[in-house]
This record gives sequence, structure tokens and C-alpha cells, in this order.
Amino acid sequence: MYLSKSFIPILKNNPSEAKIKSHQLMLRVGMIKQASAGIYSWLPLGFKVMKKIETIVRQEQDKIGAQEILMPTIQTSEIWKESGRYDDYGEEMLRIKDRQNREMLYGPTNEEQVTDIFRSSLKSYKSLPQLLYHIQWKFRDEIRPRFGIMRGREFYMKDAYSFDITDEDAFHSYNKFFLSYLRTFKRLSLTAIPMAADTGPIGGNLSHEFIILADTGESKIFTDKRIFDLTSEGTNLEKSSLEQMRKKYEQFYSVTDEKFNKEEFEKMVLEKNRLITKGIEVGHIFYFGDKYSKAMNAAVDLPGGKKDFVKMGSYGIGVSRLVGAIIEAKYDEKNEIMKWPLSVAPYDVAIIPMINKNDSSALEKANNIYSELNKNNIDAIIDDTDENYSSKIKKMNLIGAPYQIVIGKKSEGDLLEFKEVDGESQDLPLNKIIEIITKQKNSN
Ligand code: ATP
Ligand code: MG
Repeated sequence: MYLSKSFIPILKNNPSEAKIKSHQLMLRVGMIKQASAGIYSWLPLGFKVMKKIETIVRQEQDKIGAQEILMPTIQTSEIWKESGRYDDYGEEMLRIKDRQNREMLYGPTNEEQVTDIFRSSLKSYKSLPQLLYHIQWKFRDEIRPRFGIMRGREFYMKDAYSFDITDEDAFHSYNKFFLSYLRTFKRLSLTAIPMAADTGPIGGNLSHEFIILADTGESKIFTDKRIFDLTSEGTNLEKSSLEQMRKKYEQFYSVTDEKFNKEEFEKMVLEKNRLITKGIEVGHIFYFGDKYSKAMNAAVDLPGGKKDFVKMGSYGIGVSRLVGAIIEAKYDEKNEIMKWPLSVAPYDVAIIPMINKNDSSALEKANNIYSELNKNNIDAIIDDTDENYSSKIKKMNLIGAPYQIVIGKKSEGDLLEFKEVDGESQDLPLNKIIEIITKQKNSN
């Protein structure tokens, strides 16, 4: 892709309406365009990143045996009346009438819809467990949409639902998602900490929020620092392995403000290990038993001929919010350098030829490098404009491809000036560069 042909509308300066760095950068490099309050169009650069995040989220859901479905954005009010949430949900729900005057709504979440699918399809314990997920737009008429796509009204979410017969089986399903979340955020190169959370309008009694640290986050958190050193490595999908993993995390105090208790915190966490800070919620998992299955009569036949309501959990990841969360975690605001994790970068490499009007050799060289990278599945963007060196570098630093190849006067022979976007340059031959990037790509 040539920069001159791309649809990347870059602004010279930071837009004044944006209060936090992710919102600033996303507007500055034209990743999104506001359509109305809390509602955005995704332009090529932003959409590319979001699709890559979505792919990683999907792969990690598939790995724990969850099956993908796609439920509609518009739902009938009837199922929400059955669960009792049509009234409970309040003003965040966008209510619509169709031409027959039927009450419809734009789904803020899908517990009712998925319970309806389940109850009409599966009747026996033999079909359990079931883990279903979809990745779909949601709408919540947030009172204060802000920070761009971080708190939008329309947003893209992965939501999964588990169905089991016993609490014990249901906890096993819960733990699978717990693991898949740790793995997902790690692949996005984020440290997301599971925190005991309130269940809110979803209801139920077991819940964790996954939070990444950021000063601009809206969640206040209280943790034992040592939780940051834990990893999910070595955990497999066996029941006992998953239980051990969750215990390992739960041994450290780690809560958001809704669950915070000062006495408990001071008793359980030594002063030197206490961390009180702010974070961004990127995922949230709940166990709520038969709350919906009972209200909506979703029961299965048990071995002895009896019937029982299925035990359910739900598991959300904010796919669109993650785009902003990664920027909050990775953008060096002071030096105006964005470094996307290679796993979600809009481009792997920026090729920056210094183009001289009377000499097309730098551009030719860039084209050759581009096609060589392309053959090796490395996605590059060429800055083919005739701007000066520093403004080219500035632009590419904002776009945030993790690697840069500069083709200047110095680039004689086979050696190329290669650098990480935030690093020092070194002279390397193209095959070595391809090797470095490929190795890095495969490690994810
Ligand atoms: P929050 O506390 O941030 O309002 P929530 O608890 O209402 O979120 P959930 O119902 O748990 O959200 O939704 C699952 C995930 O969807 C959240 O963890 C978050 O990442 C994302 N999400 C929720 N609301 C929004 C929003 N308005 N804009 C963007 N992403 C959102
Ligand atoms: Mg939540």
C-alpha cells in the first residue's frame, strides 16, 4: 500500500475535543470518524486493527471449545419481558417500534436471546456442556459516552454463554473462559488482571473483571502487586489444572472499588505490596446459575427422568474498546510514537524512501522491498510522498507500524537502515530483516 493512495486522513495537530491519548491518536491518524455521540465509523486503519483483535479473540474462544454463532442486533422485547429485564434495564436500552407497532430493541447484551435459542434446541443433559459465543455490535444508550470508542453507545463485543447442569460443571466452564481471557490479552501484549467484581444488572454471585492499568481508566482498583507476576502458562483445560490456576490468581487481593473493603485490604496485603490505581475494564465474566433459565424455562432432562434448569454464565470482551486500551498502554504521548503489538499492527513495516525529484531509484528500491516482504506475508506501507525526512518519520511514528525501513542516501548496496519504531537503527540485509519479523510474528 502506498501512503499517497491510502485512506489515512492524518491531522497535523491533536484534536482539541479528545481528552485521552487513545481518542487523540485515533482521530489524529483517522482510525475512526464520529457519526454522532458515542457512534463511530471505522476507517481503514482502525478497522484493520479491530479485525486483527477480533481474530485473536475468536481463536482463543475456539481453543477452549466454544462454538461461534451470530445473533441479531435487533431483538424482540418479548424475551426481555420473560426475564424481567425489559423494565430493569432502564434508559440504557434503545427501544424501537417496528411498522406493526411491535416493541423491539437494539441488544445491549444477549442472555435472553441465547437462552431462547438454547431452550428451543436442546433438551437433554447429554448435549451439555455447551459454550456458545458471538461477536456482534451492541448498543447501550450510555448517559455519558466519552473517550471515543472507549465508552461508546454502539460498540463491538464478544459475548459468550455457557450451559451446564451442575454448579461444579458450570465452574469448570467459567474457568475455561478465565484461561482464554488471560491468553487472549497476553497475545494482545496487554497485562490484564482478573479482579473480583460485582455482578450488577446481570445478576449472580461469581464474577471477575479483567483490567489493564491506565491512569485514564474509569475503574478504581486495589491490588496486591504480586498478582502482576503470575502467568497462565502451563495451564491446560483439565479441571484440576484450571482450578489451580484460578486459585493462584485469587490468592492475591485484587478488587475494583465496588468490592473494596479497606479493613480487608489492609489485613490481607502488606503495605509494600499494596497498589491503588486506575484501570480499563476490557473483559468481564459472570456466573449466574439459573437466573435466566428459570425465568425463561430453559430446562433439560436429567439421567433419572427429572428435569432441571440449566446453569449459565456469560463472558464479555470489549473488542472495540480494546483498540483504545492498547493505545492507552502503548502510545508514548510525549514523543508521539505509537508502537502497535505486531499481532494487531495495521502494518508490520513502514518503508520510508527519501524521494528525490530527479531520481526514482529510492522508490524503485522501496517497491522491490515491498514485494519481497509481501512474498513473506509481511504487510508493509510505503511512504511515497515527497515530504522531507522528519515529517515522514513523524507520520509513520503515529501510524505505528512496529518496524521501519528507511531508504536514504546512506542505503548503498545490500544493507538497509532498519529500526523498531521506538528503537535505534541498524544496517541489515533484507533477508535478515525478514527473518527477524517472521520470527517475531510466529511467536504470537
Ligand atoms: P463498564 O463497567 O465499562 O460500563 P459493563 O460492566 O457495563 O462495562 P459488560 O456488560 O461487562 O460491561 O460488557 C462486557 C465488556 O464490553 C466490558 O468489559 C467492556 O470491555 C465492553 N464495554 C461495555 N460497555 C462498553 C461501552 N459503552 N463502550 C465500549 N465498550 C464497552
Ligand atoms: Mg462489566
